[in-house]
Amino acid sequence: MHALAAIHSYHAHVYYDPARTRGVAETLRQRIGERFGVQLGRWHDVPVGPHTAAMYQVAFDTEVFASLVPWLMLNREGLDVLVHPNTLAPRDDHLLHALWLGQKLALKEAVLPLRFGADQESPIEPNTTPTLAP
Ligand code: ZN
Repeated sequence: MHALAAIHSYHAHVYYDPARTRGVAETLRQRIGERFGVQLGRWHDVPVGPHTAAMYQVAFDTEVFASLVPWLMLNREGLDVLVHPNTLAPRDDHLLHALWLGQKLALKEAVLPLRFGADQESPIEPNTTPTLAP
Protein backbone atom coordinates (compact mmCIF):
# COMPACT_ATOMS: atom_id res chain seq x y z
CA MET A 1 0.00 0.00 0.00
CA HIS A 2 1.08 3.54 -0.79
CA ALA A 3 -0.57 6.60 0.68
CA LEU A 4 -1.69 9.20 -1.83
CA ALA A 5 0.20 11.74 0.24
CA ALA A 6 3.45 10.06 -0.87
CA ILE A 7 3.06 11.95 -4.18
CA HIS A 8 4.47 15.44 -3.77
CA SER A 9 4.39 16.44 -7.46
CA TYR A 10 4.33 15.05 -11.00
CA HIS A 11 6.38 15.22 -14.16
CA ALA A 12 5.16 14.97 -17.73
CA HIS A 13 8.02 14.17 -20.13
CA VAL A 14 7.17 15.20 -23.68
CA TYR A 15 9.18 13.16 -26.22
CA TYR A 16 9.92 14.27 -29.75
CA ASP A 17 12.16 13.52 -32.69
CA PRO A 18 14.60 16.43 -33.19
CA ALA A 19 14.56 15.90 -36.96
CA ARG A 20 10.84 15.39 -37.39
CA THR A 21 8.60 16.60 -34.56
CA ARG A 22 10.50 19.33 -32.72
CA GLY A 23 8.15 21.95 -34.14
CA VAL A 24 5.13 20.04 -32.85
CA ALA A 25 6.82 19.85 -29.45
CA GLU A 26 7.50 23.61 -29.54
CA THR A 27 3.86 24.38 -30.23
CA LEU A 28 2.70 22.04 -27.47
CA ARG A 29 5.17 23.57 -25.02
CA GLN A 30 3.92 27.07 -25.79
CA ARG A 31 0.30 25.99 -25.37
CA ILE A 32 1.05 24.35 -22.02
CA GLY A 33 2.79 27.49 -20.77
CA GLU A 34 -0.13 29.68 -21.81
CA ARG A 35 -2.64 27.54 -19.93
CA PHE A 36 -1.02 26.00 -16.83
CA GLY A 37 1.11 27.07 -13.91
CA VAL A 38 3.94 24.60 -14.43
CA GLN A 39 7.73 24.48 -14.43
CA LEU A 40 8.93 23.99 -18.01
CA GLY A 41 12.29 22.26 -18.14
CA ARG A 42 15.06 22.62 -20.67
CA TRP A 43 15.10 21.07 -24.11
CA HIS A 44 17.08 17.85 -24.30
CA ASP A 45 17.67 17.07 -27.97
CA VAL A 46 20.01 14.32 -26.77
CA PRO A 47 18.60 11.73 -24.32
CA VAL A 48 19.47 12.33 -20.65
CA GLY A 49 19.06 10.31 -17.47
CA PRO A 50 16.68 7.36 -17.83
CA HIS A 51 15.22 8.69 -21.08
CA THR A 52 15.99 7.08 -24.44
CA ALA A 53 14.60 9.83 -26.68
CA ALA A 54 14.76 13.62 -26.90
CA MET A 55 12.32 15.30 -24.51
CA TYR A 56 11.54 18.18 -22.22
CA GLN A 57 10.07 17.96 -18.77
CA VAL A 58 6.94 19.63 -17.44
CA ALA A 59 6.90 19.63 -13.62
CA PHE A 60 3.67 20.38 -11.81
CA ASP A 61 1.97 20.26 -8.44
CA THR A 62 -0.63 17.65 -7.58
CA GLU A 63 -3.54 20.08 -7.93
CA VAL A 64 -2.62 20.70 -11.59
CA PHE A 65 -2.89 17.00 -12.53
CA ALA A 66 -6.68 16.93 -12.98
CA SER A 67 -6.61 19.63 -15.63
CA LEU A 68 -3.22 19.22 -17.33
CA VAL A 69 -3.28 15.45 -17.89
CA PRO A 70 -6.74 15.34 -19.55
CA TRP A 71 -5.71 18.38 -21.59
CA LEU A 72 -2.59 16.48 -22.76
CA MET A 73 -4.78 13.48 -23.69
CA LEU A 74 -6.61 15.74 -26.11
CA ASN A 75 -3.76 17.96 -27.28
CA ARG A 76 -0.48 15.98 -27.40
CA GLU A 77 -0.62 16.01 -31.23
CA GLY A 78 0.75 12.49 -31.57
CA LEU A 79 3.74 13.02 -29.28
CA ASP A 80 4.50 10.36 -26.67
CA VAL A 81 4.23 11.59 -23.08
CA LEU A 82 5.32 9.92 -19.84
CA VAL A 83 3.47 11.11 -16.74
CA HIS A 84 4.96 9.94 -13.46
CA PRO A 85 4.46 10.78 -9.80
CA ASN A 86 7.32 12.05 -7.67
CA THR A 87 7.60 10.19 -4.40
CA LEU A 88 10.87 9.22 -2.75
CA ALA A 89 11.18 6.13 -4.98
CA PRO A 90 12.26 7.30 -8.45
CA ARG A 91 12.60 3.82 -9.96
CA ASP A 92 9.06 2.81 -9.02
CA ASP A 93 7.75 6.25 -9.99
CA HIS A 94 9.02 5.78 -13.54
CA LEU A 95 8.64 2.03 -14.06
CA LEU A 96 5.68 0.89 -11.96
CA HIS A 97 3.56 3.94 -11.20
CA ALA A 98 3.74 5.91 -14.42
CA LEU A 99 1.17 6.35 -17.16
CA TRP A 100 1.90 6.86 -20.84
CA LEU A 101 0.03 8.82 -23.46
CA GLY A 102 0.83 7.37 -26.87
CA GLN A 103 3.64 4.83 -27.19
CA LYS A 104 5.48 3.49 -24.16
CA LEU A 105 9.21 4.09 -24.66
CA ALA A 106 12.12 2.27 -23.08
CA LEU A 107 13.69 3.75 -19.94
CA LYS A 108 17.17 3.07 -18.55
CA GLU A 109 16.26 1.36 -15.31
CA ALA A 110 19.80 1.23 -13.95
CA VAL A 111 20.19 5.01 -13.69
CA LEU A 112 16.98 5.41 -11.67
CA PRO A 113 17.71 5.46 -7.93
CA LEU A 114 15.61 3.16 -5.78
CA ARG A 115 15.22 5.78 -3.09
CA PHE A 116 15.71 9.52 -2.63
CA GLY A 117 16.29 11.20 0.70
CA ALA A 118 13.58 13.68 1.70
CA ASP A 119 16.18 16.45 1.30
CA GLN A 120 16.50 15.60 -2.41
CA GLU A 121 12.94 16.62 -3.17
CA SER A 122 12.84 19.70 -5.34
CA PRO A 123 9.69 21.78 -4.96
CA ILE A 124 7.94 22.88 -8.15
CA GLU A 125 8.45 26.55 -8.90
CA PRO A 126 6.18 27.38 -11.83
CA ASN A 127 7.94 29.50 -14.45
CA THR A 128 4.82 29.98 -16.54
CA THR A 129 1.85 32.26 -16.04
CA PRO A 130 -1.42 31.08 -17.56
CA THR A 131 -3.13 33.66 -19.74
CA LEU A 132 -5.62 31.32 -21.42
CA ALA A 133 -8.21 28.91 -20.04
CA PRO A 134 -7.33 25.25 -20.64
ZN1 ZN B 1 10.65 12.99 -14.43
